[in-house]
Amino acid sequence: MTDAVELPLARGTVDRATAVRTDPDQLDRLWRDPATRVLRVYEGHSLVSGNPPALVLTSPEHIDGGERYFLGLDEQGIAYFAAYAPISPGAGEQLAGIRAVGGLLDDRGVGLLVHAIALANWHATHRHCARCGAPTEPVDGGHVRRCPVDGSEHFPRTDPAVIMLVSDPDDRALLGRQPSWPVRRFSTLAGFVEPGESAEHAVIREVQEESGVTVSEVRYFGSQPWPFPSSLMLGFLARASTTEIRLEDELVEARWFTRDELYQAVRDREVLLPPPVSIARRLIESWFGGELPNPNG
Ligand SMILES: [Zn+2]
Repeated sequence: MTDAVELPLARGTVDRATAVRTDPDQLDRLWRDPATRVLRVYEGHSLVSGNPPALVLTSPEHIDGGERYFLGLDEQGIAYFAAYAPISPGAGEQLAGIRAVGGLLDDRGVGLLVHAIALANWHATHRHCARCGAPTEPVDGGHVRRCPVDGSEHFPRTDPAVIMLVSDPDDRALLGRQPSWPVRRFSTLAGFVEPGESAEHAVIREVQEESGVTVSEVRYFGSQPWPFPSSLMLGFLARASTTEIRLEDELVEARWFTRDELYQAVRDREVLLPPPVSIARRLIESWFGGELPNPNG
């Protein structure tokens, strides 16, 4: 990881300890250990308290029902689980999602939160066997679901998406706006990798489809989980060999920005950039060469 870009949601420190998942006795023992820490998650949210916010972790004895998922072990051998059930905040606690607190939590906290929410999102929507339709049951500490009828195993889904900062020979950046976004929001182009396609080809195809611009050079930047509900964002820097923009229906607007144009537009709130927790923001700031103003906090 030493040469990699540090991205806000890719800072986890807890060892996933995958060998423990397949040892039901050890999982039970860890669940009975009062030192074990449990993160409650439900519908994309968990509990935080304090300023800056920290995850509210509790002992297993305070968890009443719901599915539980093993998240891993830290350097001290403390085990972490997620528990999936409706949550009521106590005094000084509040419900929070990844977009709100992902950039503010410490490294351990953000790693636990994205792991727990990504896993919970998958369990919530994949409760039946894809082969025979029977209800499946979680096994392996919640990292597999097994069909009791045909024995098939089903693994958590992660959907790869590419996101790219496209620059032209004059080093301007191409940013666009999707129809569903707020009026002044501009961001990098992005799209899902299709079956049988490489990430690099997806970059070239998506840029062409969304903007009509041809990309000739693609360089990997970094990746981070984006569990809304199950994406992995693969970031790239791409060089355009054409500059004429032709919009289809995926974007309502797309523009080339010089650094000065973007800086002024952001400062004057004519352009709203994506939030600091996003890889899009990091790609834009990497091209820009530093942090850009963040008028929305
Ligand atoms: Zn089945």
